[in-house]
Amino acid sequence: MHPIKLVVIAILLYLGYRLLISDWRKKRNKNADDSASDTTADGAVEDVLVEDPICHKLVPKQQAVRLKSKDTDTIVYFCSEKCCNLFISKEGEEK
Ligand SMILES: [Zn+2]
Repeated sequence: MHPIKLVVIAILLYLGYRLLISDWRKKRNKNADDSASDTTADGAVEDVLVEDPICHKLVPKQQAVRLKSKDTDTIVYFCSEKCCNLFISKEGEEK
C-alpha cells in the first residue's frame, strides 16, 4: 500500500472520530439543558421555601401548614400540624 494512502485514511478516520465526538457532546449538552430546565420549573416557580418559626425548618410553601397569626395578622407557615399547635399554644401563653 502507498504510504500517502495510509496518511489520507488516518486523516479521514481522525475527522470521522472528531465528528462523532462533537455530535455526542451536543446530544449530551442538550440532555443536560432539558433536565436543568425541569428543575427550575419545579424548584423556583412551584416551591418557595418558608421558615417554620417553631423548629426553624425550611418547608416548601405549598406543602406547609398555614395559620393566620392573631397578633401580627400575617400568614405563618409550619412544617407540620404539631408545630402549628405549638405556635398556637405559645401565642396563648404570651397573652
Ligand atoms: Zn416545624
